[in-house]
Amino acid sequence: MLQAKSLNGKIVTLATMTSVDIAELKKQQASFFCPACNQQVIMKAGTRMIAHFAHRSTVNCPSYEGGEGGYHAKGKLLLYQWLVYQNINVQLEAYIPSIDQRPDLLLTINKKRIAIEYQCARISIEQVTQRNKGYRRANITPIWILGENRLNRQTNNHIKIDQFTRQFIHQFSTTSPPALYYFCPQTLQFITIQDIHLTQASQAIGKFDIKSLNQIHLLHLFKQQRFTAFELYQLWKSEKRKFRLKPLHPYGKELSWHQWLYGKGTHLEYLPSIVHLPVSSQYLMKTSTWDWQSRLVIDLLAPLPIGGQISIKSCESFLRKQILSTHHVPLIHAPENPIIEYLRLLANLNIIKQESPHSFTKINPIKFHKNIEEALKADEEMISLLTVNTSDKMQA
Ligand SMILES: [Zn+2]
Repeated sequence: MLQAKSLNGKIVTLATMTSVDIAELKKQQASFFCPACNQQVIMKAGTRMIAHFAHRSTVNCPSYEGGEGGYHAKGKLLLYQWLVYQNINVQLEAYIPSIDQRPDLLLTINKKRIAIEYQCARISIEQVTQRNKGYRRANITPIWILGENRLNRQTNNHIKIDQFTRQFIHQFSTTSPPALYYFCPQTLQFITIQDIHLTQASQAIGKFDIKSLNQIHLLHLFKQQRFTAFELYQLWKSEKRKFRLKPLHPYGKELSWHQWLYGKGTHLEYLPSIVHLPVSSQYLMKTSTWDWQSRLVIDLLAPLPIGGQISIKSCESFLRKQILSTHHVPLIHAPENPIIEYLRLLANLNIIKQESPHSFTKINPIKFHKNIEEALKADEEMISLLTVNTSDKMQA
């Protein structure tokens, strides 16, 4: 933390003091206390770090951030200075009595309050949930910016997203794309990843935008950036190819899925091309796209005769055990429904047709492939069709 209380109760911010003054405090052996838990804290000041305070041990403190290292302190201070420079009303480590919380930064814009949490250490999911609940109670919008040390980028468009990271996906309105934010206090890079689509349990594709902090305004966080239909489906084309050509020795959840397929008299190579399609609200599913989509296709859609009807309700109740409750994604406002998203894609591919807000009619048969060559070719054709149909729709 950047601030602590002195013996007489005054708030002290080491980072804004000169090194001479800090040396003087050290000489006096001045005592400082955590504003949240009142325990004595220690000064951390050296030539190569932002001067800050730290608890003596992993203590029972409501504002303990875990780690509390120089990396976090520096990032927080830089973000604070960045906002001050934009003339934004911002408070550092402000205490909010009604919820007993102390966000890293508290912003007030047109009477609306935003709490920025700069999170570099791994804290428990319960802690994150508690803080978000508190902010909601106090009518404060939380924004979580993660330390760049937490970013696991794999290629230009691929990242690893574990369960911990998943809860930091923001979506400010129904029309904005899912987004993650990262900041590196060493390089000053502010990284925004938007239009996130999970490809596997803990893998995703997303559109990266990297800016230097001093090039951007706070509003940059709300600037929407998406893949074009072409970009998204090109990326998904390679996903599908990888999926078809997977090694033959799966384990865990994947193994039981292969066994389930076998029980249904089919195999990964023969699966219809419509299994494993991108849906942006996949963050609400407990299982991978290939898992739940294949169950929907094999058990519900394939047996349905042409002209037969299928309701959204029946699909939801069929998959109810695979859907997460929305409190797992606390920063997403009005999450989309992954099942409806998927059904719309199938309608786009002329497999089904939406007849009413609640139901679809099957209009074309679902094709199982005979061999891997045929499957790969059909996958590519389907991706092309999806690209064309989606682009048409976007233009319309
Ligand atoms: Zn404390």
